Amino acid sequence: AKASGKAVTVTFDRSMTARAAERLEMESELRRAIEQGQLRLHYQPIVSLETEQISEVEALVRWEHPTRGLIPPGKFIPIAEETGLIVPLGKWVLEEACRQGQEWREAHSENLSLLIGVNLSTRQFQQEGLIEEIKEILERSGLPPASLKLEITESLMSARPEDTIAKLEQLRAIGVHLAVDDFGTGYSSMSYLANFPVDTLKIDQSFVQRLGSNSESDAIVQAIMTLAKALNLRVTSEGIETDEQRALLRGMGCDRGQGYLFSRPLTSLALTELLTNQFLT
Ligand code: C2E
Ligand code: CA
Ligand code: CA
Ligand code: CA
Repeated sequence: AKASGKAVTVTFDRSMTARAAERLEMESELRRAIEQGQLRLHYQPIVSLETEQISEVEALVRWEHPTRGLIPPGKFIPIAEETGLIVPLGKWVLEEACRQGQEWREAHSENLSLLIGVNLSTRQFQQEGLIEEIKEILERSGLPPASLKLEITESLMSARPEDTIAKLEQLRAIGVHLAVDDFGTGYSSMSYLANFPVDTLKIDQSFVQRLGSNSESDAIVQAIMTLAKALNLRVTSEGIETDEQRALLRGMGCDRGQGYLFSRPLTSLALTELLTNQFLT
């Protein structure tokens, strides 16, 4: 038993070392990726469930790795969070999304009322100087604050609610929109919600995808819709893939949706074409 115990320890240590080395390599590669411009933003339309017109887009980051191809955010955002690289990464995302958003506005003689959604990670939200940074980025890009929507996660609402509320108030004072992402996955926030200066809830796709086949999901989505109405919040449903889901959500009073049924995330070029077709004047 002693010998095998030892063997297990050795294997464990080795895999730990291998994983730590892989992380370190990933970290330095990611640092280089940010510096050398290997990050890309794709944009996914958010549409009116009634008209299917695009009212917003969400910026979603990808890493165009020189040898490994396009890497999805799930593979590197957690490492960026752990290492603190999320701060320069998040700054780049904000700058690029605001720049692109203003380019689209200018292409449509500033008549475009398109909102640009940007994800803010918890670490980024808590970072010193965030408010100033956002103000500066907005000013440099020329994008009106009211055209920017920041998506924060529900977990921020339970951690230190007073600090979070104070920061959200400051963001609100700049004039940006605020959304709670993945809503419904962290139930602790329900009682706080009334005190949070946000304007949109994004219903997590896990509920949307079980609609119609799981009565609990139906009940949860209906409860979120009722809550949102009482608190005067808008609701966007994420991950809509079928007509049935769209119909159910519309029936529950949801006005906006995002998902493969309407469009996958697109390159800026593809989205530019889509916008030109939609807003042709
Ligand atoms: P999220 O903010 O919840 O973004 C929605 C994710 O759902 C995106 O995945 C999108 O491609 C995917 N999605 C959209 N419609 C559908 C659908 O109909 N079905 C299914 N199955 N999936 C759908 P993506 O782009 O891989 O992003 C994953 C997560 O990575 C995001 O989840 C967000 O938490 C994070 N992320 C992405 N970009 C950024 C960023 O710039 N900064 C930060 N901090 N996080 C980011
Ligand atoms: Ca999001
Ligand atoms: Ca989400
Ligand atoms: Ca998510």
